[in-house]
Amino acid sequence: MTVIKMAKIGSVPIFSEAKIYVAGHRGLVGGAIIRRLKKAGCKNLLTRSLGQLDLRDQGAVARFFRREQPDYVFLAAARVGGIRANSTFPAQFIYENLMIEANIIHQAYLHGVKKLLFLGSSCIYPKFAPQPMKEEYLLDGKLEPTNEPYAVAKIAGIKMCQAYNRQYGTCFISVMPTNLYGPRDNFDLLDSHVIPALMRKVHLARMSGAPEMVVWGSGSPRREFLYVDDLADACLFVMEHYQESEIINVGVGQDLTIRELAEMMARVTGFTGRLRFDPSQPDGTPRKLLDVSRLTALGWQAKVPLEAGLRSTYQWFRRSRWARQG
Ligand code: GDP
Repeated sequence: MTVIKMAKIGSVPIFSEAKIYVAGHRGLVGGAIIRRLKKAGCKNLLTRSLGQLDLRDQGAVARFFRREQPDYVFLAAARVGGIRANSTFPAQFIYENLMIEANIIHQAYLHGVKKLLFLGSSCIYPKFAPQPMKEEYLLDGKLEPTNEPYAVAKIAGIKMCQAYNRQYGTCFISVMPTNLYGPRDNFDLLDSHVIPALMRKVHLARMSGAPEMVVWGSGSPRREFLYVDDLADACLFVMEHYQESEIINVGVGQDLTIRELAEMMARVTGFTGRLRFDPSQPDGTPRKLLDVSRLTALGWQAKVPLEAGLRSTYQWFRRSRWARQG
């Protein structure tokens, strides 16, 4: 008889002998999931870089699953980006995400993966959904146009998981994280999300002694931000405690305006110049706040306050290659 050793971190026991595949381990989310799994004592972790395995390639993904036969899968691989990247590369956002999800979910079914966790996004909810957004608002209205192709691909991933559970009896669960940030994010000024973009802009302004920093849009949209290590913790928690086909939100339950975020960023980084809002850039959806009561009822809550998360992200940023680029 095989004895499965349990490693226990907090309230999350993990099968330390199980073979766990983290798709997208070099990304913001996948990297944090790997750190969290290692902390939980998991030793048999399976990863592949894009150069080793192109997840858009059906044949390559099939061969990989046939050879490796993972027990558990965290599907964190995705083409992601901020408001401008989504509008500039809509074809890549829909094609790459559909291919990655379809290939991995189908192979996970064919090779008897015990449980798969699919990472969605809060942008799957309708643009004018009541706030905070409950899981049941999915497909209740029109999507935000700036990221509709990405959102449609993510909704397809959710529906695939649900359909496979229904038809084949698999255990594929889907979590919807709110806007994420943290170490290893993409700090590209044009294509990143708001937190890395503002952090890098502040840094550049400080280095060049610029008196002001440009913030896109009106500053009035409201967003919720989750530190990526909190998300990774939640992913392990739901992998352990959640077996439903229904999607589950992961967030902090609080939001703030982009203006308040920019002010906090200035405080954290010591930037004393002016903030200039550029209304020629899009605001996107007016508000994105998740209802997290389903996850809270299971016993999980975010731990890292935004200001503390920004401080540790900034510490990482200052040592990264991004800080050396002009
Ligand atoms: P979204 O949550 O999908 O809209 O994605 P983003 O993180 O890209 O943008 C969030 C909000 O921050 C939007 O209202 C943007 O207009 C605003 N924002 C302000 N400055 C910036 C910036 O420098 N980069 C980005 N990406 N967004 C910014």
